[in-house]
This record gives sequence, C-alpha cells and structure tokens, in this order.
Amino acid sequence: MDLSLQMFRDIPKVVSYHYKEGNFNWPMIIYISFVHTTAIIGALKVAQCSPQTLIWAFLLWPISGFGITVGVHRLWSHRSYEAHFILRFFLVLCNSIANQGSIYHWARDHRVHHKFSETDADPHNATRGFFYAHMGWLLVKKDPAVVKAGREMDFSDLLADPLVRIQKNMDPWFALYMCYVMPGQVASYFWGEDFWNAFFVAGALRYCIVLHFTWLVNSAAHLYGDHPYDVLSYPAENPIVSWCAVGEGWHNWHHKYPFDYSASEYGVSSQFNPSRMFIDACAAVGLVWNRKTGTAAWQMGRARRDRDAAAGIPLPKAPPRPWEVQEGKKVE
Ligand SMILES: [Zn+2]
Ligand SMILES: [Zn+2]
Repeated sequence: MDLSLQMFRDIPKVVSYHYKEGNFNWPMIIYISFVHTTAIIGALKVAQCSPQTLIWAFLLWPISGFGITVGVHRLWSHRSYEAHFILRFFLVLCNSIANQGSIYHWARDHRVHHKFSETDADPHNATRGFFYAHMGWLLVKKDPAVVKAGREMDFSDLLADPLVRIQKNMDPWFALYMCYVMPGQVASYFWGEDFWNAFFVAGALRYCIVLHFTWLVNSAAHLYGDHPYDVLSYPAENPIVSWCAVGEGWHNWHHKYPFDYSASEYGVSSQFNPSRMFIDACAAVGLVWNRKTGTAAWQMGRARRDRDAAAGIPLPKAPPRPWEVQEGKKVE
C-alpha cells in the first residue's frame, strides 16, 4: 500500500486541539490585531503619500517576498541550491523586512509542514479548512503533535549558518525595525516623505498584504487548483497564488519535488516565477550554484503513469476535501 494513500484513508481525523477548547494564543492574537489595525491606518494614508513612497511600498513586496521564497523557503528550508555569503546576507535582510519570524523558526515549521502535510502534526493543516490553514493556526496554541514533530526532527544544519544564528538572536527586534521603521527612515531621508506616512504605508500596509499573500500558499494553494503531479495530495497548482507570492503557487509540484529550486515544472515564460528568475540571475553572476530540479524524477513518474493508463489502471482517487467532510463522516 502506498504510504500517502494509507495516510488519506485515515481522514477525517478527530480535531482535538482548537479554539473551542480555549487554547487561544493571546500574545499572537494581540500582535495580529496590531498588524491589521496599523495596516488599516496605512490604507487611510495612501492618498497622502508621494509617488516615490508608493513605488517604494510596491517594490518592498518582491524584496520582502524574495526574503521568504528565495531565502527561507527555497534556500534554508529545502536546500534547493547553494548561495554565496553575500547573497545569504542580502536574503537575511529581505527576510527581516518580511518579518515572518526568524529563518530558523520559519524553516523548522515548514519542514514539519512538508513531512506531515494534512495531518495533526502539520502546523497549518488544510483539512481543518481555509481560515485555519490561512491564519487561524497562528491564533491558537500549537497542537501537541506539531510540537512533538518539531522536537523529533533535526534542524542543526540551520544553526550551522552563522547568519541564521545571528538573525535568530536578534529576533524579533531587528525584524520589527526592518519591517516597520526602516521603510519610513529611507523614505524620509531620501525623498523627504513624512516618516509616519511611510511607516504606515511602506511598512505596516505592505507588510500585512505580503503576509496574506504568503498565507495564501498554505490556504488557497492547498485547497484550490489542479493536481497534475500527485493526485493524492492537497497541494495544488494555483496561478493566482503564484502572482501574489512571487512564484510560489505551483504547490502540487513543490510538495512532490520540494528540492526543486524553481518550485515549478516549467520555465518562467509559461509559469509566473520571479523567484526563479532572481535565483537564475544570481547564478549567472556566480552567487548561486548547484541548483537542483525535479525534472528527471517527474519524467520517470509521468512515464509510469502513462504505462498505467495504457494498461487501463485508473489514477488513484483524490482525498476528501474539508467541504466533503461533515460531522466526522465523508459525504459519499
Ligand atoms: Zn504546502
Ligand atoms: Zn516548501
């Protein structure tokens, strides 16, 4: 029996640890409320900003986005390529502007997510619905299964990188500075913008929007889209999420071949992927090497599927989705 198939035979699981039991993560609820309140203030201040500040806020979307996609995701979480110290230093700065927790903590949660996708040990288990996978998981205490999985895995390679260690030691103060204060200082120093205008628009509003774009990978790209590479898995090919998350929505491929630096099958001409373009550009100037791809593995997988199809063996049935599951029973 295929292991992944065995996993989905157990669905639906008993959800044992959620908000109804009062397991609220109050510090995070207060922080996320602050993030959204300051973003609303930012939205009200957009009309008062100079064009330079609006361009700066817009540019901080891919800049901070690359800190997540190119940096903590494809480099540190998955080791899908190797990078020069200069690039790693730049990516640490970009990652801090994105302010999504330290590289160490983000990569730890993400490796647990890949290893235990759609189980109780998955930090943002999408079988618990869109809101939980999107941001609800941050608002409750971690499921004990997630904590246990994190304790049992080895993350020593992350701390072997001095840049990751330094950023972890400065967490959260450096990230809060780079996310909120630095954009305001740059705008007021270089083009005379009011500090608080840039603080709220290029800082708070841009931060909140990019946060939701990242969260869409865990929610929308785990629930909506095609499954050409692994019909049994939840992660899906979602072009809209790819636009938002600078190339990170090709998620069925990514979960099948997480070591692929492109996180997608095709080139950038047919699949929007500025993160891949950035890694390729860095490779062209010698800052990146040893880019891994899943293409050879997929050629074998596709050939096997074609042989099965020719022999009349049907594809396995996709697992039930949350809206197909009611009261602990799958609706047939
Ligand atoms: Zn995922
Ligand atoms: Zn990943």
